[in-house]
Amino acid sequence: MERSIDTVRETPHWSYSAFNTYLTCPMRYYFRYIEHAEAERTSVSIPFGRAFHAVLSERAMKGADYTVEDAKEDFSVFFKGEAEVCEKLTYKQDEDYLFWEQRGCDMLDVALAEWTDDYTVKSVAEAFSVEVPGLSKPLIGEFDLVVTDGGDETICDWKTASMKWPAGKADRDLQATTFCYAYRQLHGRMPMFRFDVFTKAKAPAHHQFYTYRNQDDLDRFVYLAGQIEKVVNTGIFLPVESCMNCSECAYSERCKAAHRKAG
Ligand code: SF4
Repeated sequence: MERSIDTVRETPHWSYSAFNTYLTCPMRYYFRYIEHAEAERTSVSIPFGRAFHAVLSERAMKGADYTVEDAKEDFSVFFKGEAEVCEKLTYKQDEDYLFWEQRGCDMLDVALAEWTDDYTVKSVAEAFSVEVPGLSKPLIGEFDLVVTDGGDETICDWKTASMKWPAGKADRDLQATTFCYAYRQLHGRMPMFRFDVFTKAKAPAHHQFYTYRNQDDLDRFVYLAGQIEKVVNTGIFLPVESCMNCSECAYSERCKAAHRKAG
């Protein structure tokens, strides 16, 4: 029986998101994954991204009969639902809920006009849970979309981004490595990986980035994952302060007070 991502999340696990959070700021990892602290604020990009992603899943599952009007209608419903359950939603200056609802619809015009995956879909929202040597908990996640092309399999991941990705980003991306590792464990074959990046600009655009991982990349991932678990077990979580890290951090007040609490 296929499991959903909610089911595999029910037991202790590792995820790409946890690894990435640790690597960008161990103290944020501590607040989110150890302390389970309440978010002090939530950027609108979180519910926006979830709603946009949910609409693309609908498109992948329902096929070409799913029109852009269906997509926009669903987006409004999903975005409203996601925004309502977020704690202390924040917007940038001169932006509000209606601004982002319209921007989502503009992005869907592009996404559906450039859709390429109708006849090759192998799975949509395929949850996984695999063992990784050296980790005490399984690695879990969800493949947004898997397509086949001439017998070769490609994992596709949908992203919303404020700007076009720079050259080389996909080749260094840990998510692609993590997901290729999981796919290889589950299916015994090395897939290709494709990021579909939708920019949230005034004139939205869609770019595809293909990337490939080899056995050495997967071996390095196993090493990195094991090292992260070892360091997490030491209980030392240092802050990594930077404009990029901290500007939208959901725990910045806790972080500012951490040294006082430690005494
Ligand atoms: S405010 Fe910055 S340094 Fe502090 S937890 Fe957040 S990202 Fe890390």
